[in-house]
Amino acid sequence: MKYWVDLHIHSCLSPCAESDMTPNNIVNMALIKGLDIIAITDHNSVGNVKAAMEVGERSGILVVPGMELCTSEEIHLVCLFPDYENALSFERHVYENLPPITNREDIFGAQIIMDANDNEAGRETRFLSGACGLDIETSLNLVRGLNGIVIPAHINRQSYSILNTLGSIPPEYGFKYLEYSKQKDTVPLCSQIEKFIQMNPELGSYNFINSSDAHFLGDILEQEIFFDLPDKSIQSILSVLS
Ligand SMILES: [Zn+2]
Ligand SMILES: [Zn+2]
Repeated sequence: MKYWVDLHIHSCLSPCAESDMTPNNIVNMALIKGLDIIAITDHNSVGNVKAAMEVGERSGILVVPGMELCTSEEIHLVCLFPDYENALSFERHVYENLPPITNREDIFGAQIIMDANDNEAGRETRFLSGACGLDIETSLNLVRGLNGIVIPAHINRQSYSILNTLGSIPPEYGFKYLEYSKQKDTVPLCSQIEKFIQMNPELGSYNFINSSDAHFLGDILEQEIFFDLPDKSIQSILSVLS
C-alpha cells in the first residue's frame, strides 16, 4: 500500500525552528497534508520524539524516532531508529560528545522540550545545532549498531552536506538513500534529480528521497513522496531505507 511520508521535520527543540513546531501542531499539520508517516529529526537530540510519537499514536500518524546529527566533519545525517529506546541510546552518545556550549536563546532561539499535550516540559540548555564530536564513521557504526538507518541530508546544498564537505560519497559508507532538497522552482522534482545525477554521475546508483527539512509548519510536505509498504510500521519503512 502507498504511504505518504516526510522523514525530516524539526520541532521547537531545534533552535532554528519556529516555536509553534509543537508535537501536536506537527502531527495535525501532517494529517491536514494527508501524510501517513513522518519523522521528527531535531539537531543532535531526540528530546521531543517521545511526545510526538504519543501524539501520532492518538492521531493515526506514524512518527518515526529520528535525529539530524551534525558530525564532527559538519555533515548532517538523518538518523532513523526502530524505537524510541534505541534513539535515546544514540542521543546519549551524542550528548557525551557535544561541545560545552550553552544555548543563547537571544541569538539562536529557544530549545523547547514538550510533553504530548504541548506543555513545555523544559528547555535544553546545551547548544544543539553545532557539530558534535562523533565522526561520520563512528556515527554510522553507532546508528546501525542500534538497528537504525542513515540518510545523508540535503546533499545538494552548499552547507552541512556530505557531498560538499567530502567532495564525494564514499561507497564503503553503504548508504542506500540520499536526501535531495527540492529547489523552489517550477521544474518537477524528478527532473531536478535527473539533472543532479547528470552533474554527479557517480551518484546514479543511489536512491533519492526528498523530505521537507521543515522548520515551519507550512513547509511540511504535501503528498509528494510515498513508499509502497506491506504495512504502516517503523520496521517496514526502515527496511526499505536500509
Ligand atoms: Zn541539515
Ligand atoms: Zn534539518
